[in-house]
Amino acid sequence: MTGELSPQAFSIEPEQVFNEFVFKLASRCNMQPREIESLAGNGLSVVDQAIGCNQCYEYVGTNAWKRQPPFMSSRTIAQAAERIAEHADAHDLSAIRAIGHGGEALMGSVDYLDEFFTTVHDTIATPKRKVYFSIQTNGLLLTDDKLHVLQKHNVAVGLSLDGDKNANDRHRRDRLGGSTYDRVVRAAAMLSERAMNWGILTVIDPANNPEETLESLAALKPQSISMFPPHANWSSPPEFAQGSITMGEWQTRVFDRYRKWHVYHPDQPEPPFRLPLVDGYLEAMLGAVPLHERISNRYPHELFILPNGDFQRLDTLKSTEEGAFRTPFNVAEHSLDEIAATDPGFAARRLGDAALAQQCLECPFLRSCGGDYYPLRFKQGETPLSEHSSVEDFAKTFRNPSVYCSDQKEYLGHLALFVAQQKQLREPQHSNAAQVWLQSYHKKPAHKDIQFVVGSAEPHANQVAADFPALMGAIHKATSRYSTFPDMHTRPEPPEISPEYIDALYQALDAEQYNGRLMLQALQILSKRHRGRVMYFEPMNSQLPGADYFRTIDDMTTNGNHAIVRALFNTRHMFLRHTDFRLRKSGEYWLVTENAVSQHARYEHIPGNAFVGFATVPLRQSLEIESGLMNPETELDIADVLNKRRFVRVGLSDAPGDVLVVAHRKGTAVSQIDALEEVAARLPSAYHPERLSGAIVQEESGIVLRSLSGRWPAADLRKMYDHWAP
Ligand code: SF4
Repeated sequence: MTGELSPQAFSIEPEQVFNEFVFKLASRCNMQPREIESLAGNGLSVVDQAIGCNQCYEYVGTNAWKRQPPFMSSRTIAQAAERIAEHADAHDLSAIRAIGHGGEALMGSVDYLDEFFTTVHDTIATPKRKVYFSIQTNGLLLTDDKLHVLQKHNVAVGLSLDGDKNANDRHRRDRLGGSTYDRVVRAAAMLSERAMNWGILTVIDPANNPEETLESLAALKPQSISMFPPHANWSSPPEFAQGSITMGEWQTRVFDRYRKWHVYHPDQPEPPFRLPLVDGYLEAMLGAVPLHERISNRYPHELFILPNGDFQRLDTLKSTEEGAFRTPFNVAEHSLDEIAATDPGFAARRLGDAALAQQCLECPFLRSCGGDYYPLRFKQGETPLSEHSSVEDFAKTFRNPSVYCSDQKEYLGHLALFVAQQKQLREPQHSNAAQVWLQSYHKKPAHKDIQFVVGSAEPHANQVAADFPALMGAIHKATSRYSTFPDMHTRPEPPEISPEYIDALYQALDAEQYNGRLMLQALQILSKRHRGRVMYFEPMNSQLPGADYFRTIDDMTTNGNHAIVRALFNTRHMFLRHTDFRLRKSGEYWLVTENAVSQHARYEHIPGNAFVGFATVPLRQSLEIESGLMNPETELDIADVLNKRRFVRVGLSDAPGDVLVVAHRKGTAVSQIDALEEVAARLPSAYHPERLSGAIVQEESGIVLRSLSGRWPAADLRKMYDHWAP
């Protein structure tokens, strides 16, 4: 049967397997727009724009839902789960995503939902394979009992909401034409109260104000906000109200509010939510392989399962034509390998560059945009796509730039400029000031002649300000990344710092001129020398008990590295929340699994990286804290100090040299965690991690041990001393 579809069988590369499965649990929706069929004449839906959710690709322009039973049966769920397990076994997959979708995914009863998650989990999950659940809902049918089921199965929830009341009700109305806003907000509050992992999905309408939209959504405290343009294509172009700004400008303004979040929210140094699409574009611009389905012309990994058990291509292709999304495969008769190997629709999306228009291949944004989201490239051919179409028929129909191409260029151009600026900010700079600092380090008092006044209106200020980065570079050189090296005590004391530097440092911090290790180290040095303005570090988002917010000065000085490591590799860190990684201390070294490092690496240079907080405390209070004899007044003062703490952004390059990374060639989280435990057990007796690394390589165990800094501690220390030698 498959031969009829396509005479050519495609070999399945590892990156061509399916690992994301969308179960269309219900074919109906409680916000389904009302049909005015009599006007249609062609058998297709024409809907009353004032009733229900009037932008939904499921019900506007297609009648495909009418062929489906109202719900996916237990038998179909079980069959689909078995197909997925078979595929995951064959390809040794360690993670599967299963998404409950509709219609409206919560149309089913509490028991129905519970049975769905239980069946899928029990059929697919193994000790070496995790199933990550999520569900997409309009939230109107969310009850405490359903929420309990979602929580029980650790289901991430996507809630559809378009902004504030006006913005949302522009398109998302109930079946009586009434507002749905308050009911969706109620669902959002339920999700937040239960500390669920949840996000918002927004369809952009440029008639809405972008900043107000973002702020109103963020106020509901989701963990992520995904904003997408409405479905449109060259045969059905987007239509927006007259006078609206462009889609590109709208998205650009949202990004600007996101990256300057701390300016509008001084109590929040990083946005408390993610914009996954923005992060994905930035990742791509920084050279990472983006995981977001809309970015970079990626291979399709997602497969849709309809209520009757049919397999379907991308659901959003319903905004194009029937032959584009419909397949002849079903759970009872076909394996997933068969679909991957024979379906021309999927094959056409795996053509790489050959799937793209010439205009895209020549475009400077090819790496990030990649021709944009697949359905947005559609242009109806002379013959509609069908099950008889070839790979080339599919490719031809979608070999166009996005219908939002000019918006993409406007938006991605802005992001690219931001990335370029961020990179430049982190480049090391050199000037005479570095020399001055190094001289001062060798007890030559030259630095006392220099006043660093950042931001001053004095005539010499510009020159001085230009020297400031170099000063910080010199501090970086003069302090080691290796906090715990045994020869630590032989290192000379850091130099005296004149009080003028303190203001300069603070001003630089406030202006976000400098971040990272060198700023922290400068502060550490200051705290040693100026005990009247004692400084304490805390790992941002720390899970440590409150008592650990404040440390003694000695603790702080030796544990500054600890604060950085905890800030970088914290299970509550935005970018690591869903990464199964391990961090543990082994003797004098930190061990961390490679997956955390690679996840972090994606976000270097971009907003929302890890922060270390610090606060200054007057000496008297500091002594009270250190002695453990705090009077109630001091406790209140400390609460006040905590509220006024400042933040230093840190990234991977700030991690201390005693962080060791453990990887395993298999690349799965499970294999990396097992490898880390083995290294931790063997490290104390190995004398030095470099020696253990060599032994592990010889054993061909598949384990790889490396230093995060790229150099083993001893070699680096020698190099550092060589550099300082008078
Ligand atoms: S911006 Fe336009 S031309 Fe460039 S890759 Fe995207 S869709 Fe293609």
